[in-house]
Amino acid sequence: MSIGTNLNKVKSSLPGHVTLVAVSKTKPKEVILEAYNTGHRIFGENKVQEMVQKWEELPKDIEWHMIGHVQRNKVKYMAPFVSMIHGVDSFRLLKEIDKQAKKNNRTIDCLLQMHIAKEETKFGLDGNELKEIIVSEEFELLKNIRIVGVMGMATFTPDESQVRKEFAYLKSIFAELKEQLPEIDTLSMGMSGDYGIAIEEGSTMVRIGSSIFGARNYL
Ligand SMILES: *Cc1c(COP(=O)(O)O)cnc(C)c1O
Repeated sequence: MSIGTNLNKVKSSLPGHVTLVAVSKTKPKEVILEAYNTGHRIFGENKVQEMVQKWEELPKDIEWHMIGHVQRNKVKYMAPFVSMIHGVDSFRLLKEIDKQAKKNNRTIDCLLQMHIAKEETKFGLDGNELKEIIVSEEFELLKNIRIVGVMGMATFTPDESQVRKEFAYLKSIFAELKEQLPEIDTLSMGMSGDYGIAIEEGSTMVRIGSSIFGARNYL
């Protein structure tokens, strides 16, 4: 099936309030253009260098989302253009994003990544670490980042009840955070294999790759 067909199929399965990030990591620019030509504008990448290269070569009205783990020394390369960073998992990283955004005269939208899965390998903050960031005086001083919500990845398991439980937990963190930061509106959860459950549990943003672009050769 064509990418346009896949994309439209995914889109038509999403409620109107759910934003689709088409995860184009590892895919060549021709493939991204195919999706772009159907009218889609939001793409997700998980490696800074790869995203920078695609940004340089593709139309400038694409909104690039960094969905992967970010090293602080790479922030400067994407700060001129990135539209949202999903994987903010430390205060040091947040400060670096603020610093680089300021240099570029921008405000960068960020999601705090929460650790919700059972797997040790998945990055993210726990509830206490999140609180520490939000209440710190230094946080108040960061004027060039905007926390717009939270992001999380569920355990990779066929056990749907486990996945649902983890998404429900992330939703509860989101609701709690919203009491502190009423302006937040983004709950980024759900990928090709679990976005149906994520939406049932309150997701407002799904990150979908393989259901649109087909399987990847590597992560
Ligand atoms: C690769 C990736 C996705 C998309 O995964 P699919 O299973 O291909 O939909 C979503 N979120 C993150 C953080 C990813 O790294």
